[in-house]
Amino acid sequence: MTRRFDAIVIGAGQAGPPMAARIAATGKTVALIERKLIGGTCVNTGCTPTKAMVASAYAAHLARRAPDFGVTAGTVGVDFAAVMARKNTIVANSRSHLEAWLRGLSNCTVIQGQARFLSPATLRVGDDVLEAERLFVNVGCRAEAPDFPGRDQVKTLNNTTLLELDALPQRLVIVGGSYIGLEFAQIFRRFGSAVTVVEKMPRLIAREDHDVSQAIREALEAEGIKVRLDSECISFAPRGAEIAVGVNCAAGEPEELGSHVLLAVGRRPNTDDLGLDAAGVKVDARGYILVDDGLKTSVPHIWALGDCNGRGAFTHTSYNDYEIVAANLLDGAQRKVSDRIPVYALYVDPPLGRVGLTEAEARAKGHSVRIGVRPMTRVGRAVEKGETRGFIKVVVDRDTDAILGAAILGVGGDEAVHGVIEAMAAGVTATAYTRVMAIHPTVSELVPTVFGELSP
Ligand SMILES: Cc1cc2nc3c(=O)[nH]c(=O)nc-3n(C[C@H](O)[C@H](O)[C@H](O)COP(=O)(O)OP(=O)(O)OC[C@H]3O[C@@H](n4cnc5c(N)ncnc54)[C@H](O)[C@@H]3O)c2cc1C
Repeated sequence: MTRRFDAIVIGAGQAGPPMAARIAATGKTVALIERKLIGGTCVNTGCTPTKAMVASAYAAHLARRAPDFGVTAGTVGVDFAAVMARKNTIVANSRSHLEAWLRGLSNCTVIQGQARFLSPATLRVGDDVLEAERLFVNVGCRAEAPDFPGRDQVKTLNNTTLLELDALPQRLVIVGGSYIGLEFAQIFRRFGSAVTVVEKMPRLIAREDHDVSQAIREALEAEGIKVRLDSECISFAPRGAEIAVGVNCAAGEPEELGSHVLLAVGRRPNTDDLGLDAAGVKVDARGYILVDDGLKTSVPHIWALGDCNGRGAFTHTSYNDYEIVAANLLDGAQRKVSDRIPVYALYVDPPLGRVGLTEAEARAKGHSVRIGVRPMTRVGRAVEKGETRGFIKVVVDRDTDAILGAAILGVGGDEAVHGVIEAMAAGVTATAYTRVMAIHPTVSELVPTVFGELSP
């Protein structure tokens, strides 16, 4: 029998639940289909568990540094089981609050199961066929697992399975020196694992400016994390109870040994088992759903939101997708994805808060730029906190005085960057930013100063 709804939402990630709730609040009937865990990646295997573990790792790090602050502390130990239990509680609470809210919504039916399109308006979930006039796809991504030579002969971990470990890895080799890999590297190093990061590019997080990636590398190496760059020949082989990770063909030690290996080499969209062909929804070569500036797919009554549309890879981009679609559909707005300014953070310690263009991107786009930089050693709050790694960096258009971007790598950088985010969103110029009166002592108070000390 076919079950009819006004709208169907596939995937209870970061965009699906608010989309379902918003439509249900208008009196329309909505089915929200989730094949695994309500909350999707962020709540269950992404942001929430990792940031809970970042907090434990920071506590261990600060405890070891207690004498720097004149504090006497005993030997610092990490109880891995307790760390994971804390993380699990935070995740379970977050998921169950979300689930209780969704199940309590009028007009919204939560359905557990794998959805697959049968036609542009119908889906199969288990034995049921569901039909709706409007459909919203929020199926997210999963960890990429490339066919490196020997990968089938060893057991590798991804972000999901690493978060399920019940014992601390002795030696963790992380393949992938980008955002996810680096957060895990520092977390596990601070818990006591020996950690090696293997990256095929000549530097870590190669999308960032050179000075940013170099400073992050130095911070990680200072904590004893080994970094192997230019690793063009990644391969795996069992070596006794351990795994040998082939690293370099030409220079340096040819391999690294690990008790555990994490693959953090990218994500791929969950679109291959969704029956998109039957719906007529087009995808690109990598499986990302093609959308227009309002997130409509090639089928006018189907929208794609979140990571699966390739227009963002963050919780806030997924949620913002919901805001754009809901505003256009229900409020008569004309919002566009291309209007938003890229923002994100990397939660290593010190954290990196980012907005807009990097210096290299700005120059590549043809801007004539002025740069402002101030090391954290000259930020009073950072000095007082004893956390002086990193710097504030801003990028300004020489001709228009427009703020093009910023990187705040340093204590509180993930929060302090919001001043620049909001200024850019409001079209505040660099000169206007210099006139802001900020609270003392904060990291943020020096951002106007940096805008006032731009390179000529
Ligand atoms: C380790 C890690 C750390 C991260 N940290 C951060 C961070 O600090 N900040 C940040 O902004 N982002 C972070 N991210 C990224 C963030 O988690 C994702 O960008 C975000 O979760 C994307 O949300 P989404 O709504 O697109 O999809 P998801 O949250 O992935 O949800 C998609 C849902 O769809 C379901 N689904 C898939 N296919 C089907 C189907 N056919 N039928 C039914 N259901 C289906 C899935 O089970 C899933 O629940 C992190 C990611 C990882 C892996």
